[in-house]
Amino acid sequence: PRDHLRPVPALPHAVLAPLPRTVAADLGVPTLHRTVVDYANFDHAASTPALESVQAAVDAALRTYSSVHRGNGYASKVTSAWYEQAREQVASFVGAREEDLVVFTRNTTDSLNLLARALPRRTTTFVFESEHHAALLPWDERRTVRLPVPGSVEDALVLLEEALAEHARTSDGPRLVVVTGASNVTGELWPVERFTEVARRYAARVALDAAQLAPHRRIDVGALDVDYVAFSGHKLYAPFGAGVLVGRADWLDAAAPYLRGGGATARVSEREVQWSQGSARHEAGSPNVIGAIALAAACATVEAHRDAIEAHESALAQRLQAGLAAIEGVSTWSVFGEGHDRVGVVTFTVDGVDSSLVSASLSAEHGVGVRDGKFCAHLLVDALLDGPGAPATAVRASVGLASTVEHVDRLVSAVSRLAEHGP
Ligand code: PLP
Repeated sequence: PRDHLRPVPALPHAVLAPLPRTVAADLGVPTLHRTVVDYANFDHAASTPALESVQAAVDAALRTYSSVHRGNGYASKVTSAWYEQAREQVASFVGAREEDLVVFTRNTTDSLNLLARALPRRTTTFVFESEHHAALLPWDERRTVRLPVPGSVEDALVLLEEALAEHARTSDGPRLVVVTGASNVTGELWPVERFTEVARRYAARVALDAAQLAPHRRIDVGALDVDYVAFSGHKLYAPFGAGVLVGRADWLDAAAPYLRGGGATARVSEREVQWSQGSARHEAGSPNVIGAIALAAACATVEAHRDAIEAHESALAQRLQAGLAAIEGVSTWSVFGEGHDRVGVVTFTVDGVDSSLVSASLSAEHGVGVRDGKFCAHLLVDALLDGPGAPATAVRASVGLASTVEHVDRLVSAVSRLAEHGP
């Protein structure tokens, strides 16, 4: 009965022994993950291995850190400077404007919830049902217009325009359009600028869920003309626990603090509390300084190697997509059509084989790690898999820095065997 209290057995030393070379190392951005067999991790869209550069930054910080924005000692001053430098690095990573704040949060979900709480009264939010739950659910339900899963980009633009026009006929309240940069289910890139163009015609602000975009494509909030962007460290080769919301200061400064407590206050008297302006307003309590440093280090490394990372991933993504799509009995899923530009995420089903069996067999028999289910995007997966006798769930394979051509070929041939002979 007390089994769950037993300590988890230590990993054998060999599991942690470094491999001779990895693709990520060849690209100049080595990651920390080590395995004794060359385990093929196709779950980068969920979380990524940490970069060695992130480890080095965290290691240095762990050796010195003290309180942040409180103490006057050397270590406190250094820690505070690092924390603010991390903010600057994140700002530069997304091309933040003068009027933008960078608020450190726990992850994308936290960032979008913060934004939802900071919206001016009467704001109506427009969001597609194809969004990840983190972007679909934080908004006030009474003031959210849900747009159906579109059939094409043009369809999506029309749906958005019609909804905004309809709203504008009866209300002059603030509007917010939420779009994703890249889908966590299909990997498809959303042409964000085109959605912003429509939004601007109705004076709507735009929030970009960049959880899947940030690891794979350069983000420039000015060029994309978005007002807010959110992403997570753990999908960008940093550890769990740190994310960001970057965006226009005015709504954030006018909103009630996300958390109430020390650090978010300018002055507290018996009669009233004056809340800080700027990022501090929404960062009450001692912040996750180490997480912020890790996230910023990942931003800097990824940005410095953007072209190499993109070239590596898109070659693998095309090989994966083409390999899986060519197998008889395997369907790959998309919203905008097979040829649409995408990051390295492919979602597929195998005729007659339950998705959980596909992923279990890939793991146990081939050393391939994928994910099965509905990927926190139930409405999208339900819409894609709609039809008589359709499966309820799918399998997702996502590539990243630690993926190799051999991994892709291993996955494709394993799925091919499964499709032909069953598990
Ligand atoms: N948005 C997208 C597109 C995602 O893929 C995810 C995570 O899978 C999230 C938001 C939520 O990210 P987090 O779990 O780090 O808050």
